[in-house]
Amino acid sequence: MTEITLHNTRSRSRERFVPLDPANVRMYVCGPTVYDRAHIGNARPVVVFDVLFRLLRHVYGAGHVTYVRNVTDVDDKINARAAAEQRPIRELTDETLAAYHADMDALGALRPTHEPRATDYVPEMVAMIEALVARGHAYEAEGHVLFAVASFPGYGRFANRSLDEMQAGARVEVAPYKRDPMDFVLWKPSSSAEPGWPSPWGHGRPGWHIECSAMSGALLGTSFDIHGGGIDLVFPHHENEIAQSACTHPEGEFARYWLHNGFLNVEGEKMSKSLGNFFTVRDLLERGIPGEVIRFVLMSTHYRQPIDWTEAKVHEATVLLTLWEKLLRDVKRVGAPAAGAAPAPEVVAALADDLNTPLALKALRDIASEVRLGGERGARAGAAFVVSLDLMGISPDGFRSAAIRQSLDRVFSGAGEKGFDEKVRGLLAAREKARAARDFARADAIRDGLLAAGIKVMDRAGGPSEWELGPDFDPARLDGIES
Ligand SMILES: [Zn+2]
Repeated sequence: MTEITLHNTRSRSRERFVPLDPANVRMYVCGPTVYDRAHIGNARPVVVFDVLFRLLRHVYGAGHVTYVRNVTDVDDKINARAAAEQRPIRELTDETLAAYHADMDALGALRPTHEPRATDYVPEMVAMIEALVARGHAYEAEGHVLFAVASFPGYGRFANRSLDEMQAGARVEVAPYKRDPMDFVLWKPSSSAEPGWPSPWGHGRPGWHIECSAMSGALLGTSFDIHGGGIDLVFPHHENEIAQSACTHPEGEFARYWLHNGFLNVEGEKMSKSLGNFFTVRDLLERGIPGEVIRFVLMSTHYRQPIDWTEAKVHEATVLLTLWEKLLRDVKRVGAPAAGAAPAPEVVAALADDLNTPLALKALRDIASEVRLGGERGARAGAAFVVSLDLMGISPDGFRSAAIRQSLDRVFSGAGEKGFDEKVRGLLAAREKARAARDFARADAIRDGLLAAGIKVMDRAGGPSEWELGPDFDPARLDGIES
């Protein structure tokens, strides 16, 4: 069986992944607060944990992995938006969730096994808060129930922060009814205009942190394998989840492996509405950027590193995927891979090595070069290519949408892919001819011309030259090369 290694935030080291029950590998990822469309930064954890979900399904079997991603549908931002738009809350959250599904489907993300909505689990949250109060880990004050951080000696250990750092980092509201400024809200009172549920502490609603502890416990049990989210959730959200779960279920381990993805920047800057570089997944799709391209760019940086979203990367991914789509059509003409065909071992190995997606994409490029060789070896590589693409969430079936075909026309400025492909092949053939005639100046001029157009030529011993498109690819410059 493939051995998976994951970086665990809890131990700050890479660990061999050993599930509690290989017949039911369990993963929980913090999901969206449904009041607005997902921006590109929100899409990163979705793609990262989709890759992990697919890898786990590959290794343990599709029916042996349970993936839970919650939907936060009770939140003050939701209340504010619904009030501003004078709409029922449920209408706003239903509509936002449907849009979220459409956008994440376009990125090739599989739907999780369960997507619990917080409002469906309020009784479980109330029961958990009651248990915390009964055990002395929480207290009621002015209609609120607060978790007493002083009651949990391990508080702060997960995020590895001192009390001073936590206070500065959390920017918590220092309410007069708190015993300790770090105490956080489990339950708060609701006015008649706000959503609320009956509870032993009156009409109110849950705080945010408690929902993940209650829903993961209800759906995955008191000990499960993986918990994921963005790096910004380490503190206070995940620290608080751990405190709540550990104090309610001291017999359980809660989550054993914690994975966090890095931030997303845009062209080297933090994405923000004030900088004018803020965009949603829908904005990109409407610009005609295929979901596969967005997914590819997100996978091109290792999940733990900060990612820089750039137009150059979008361009490079579009060109590459366009060529891959063409290659897939060639593979299909030769014959689809047999049922049960395996993905390339080097792709699986890269993903199993703490989700090294950049290395897996590099392996796919190498396999694509082999497919281009044709023959029996090419056909074998073709089957591995199709199955490996699928494992990485890039659908081999016509790339899910016609968008790639359309983007191709844009990239090649109407010249058409056939014309482009023929042109490059023609130039390479002319270069071969020049070399055979020992006219090296001319051969080098063609190679340099291709390089200036963003096409790197790689000579191979005893075979035709290979070529690769770079991020600075500019088809217009091909016209200036004399063959
Ligand atoms: Zn959470």
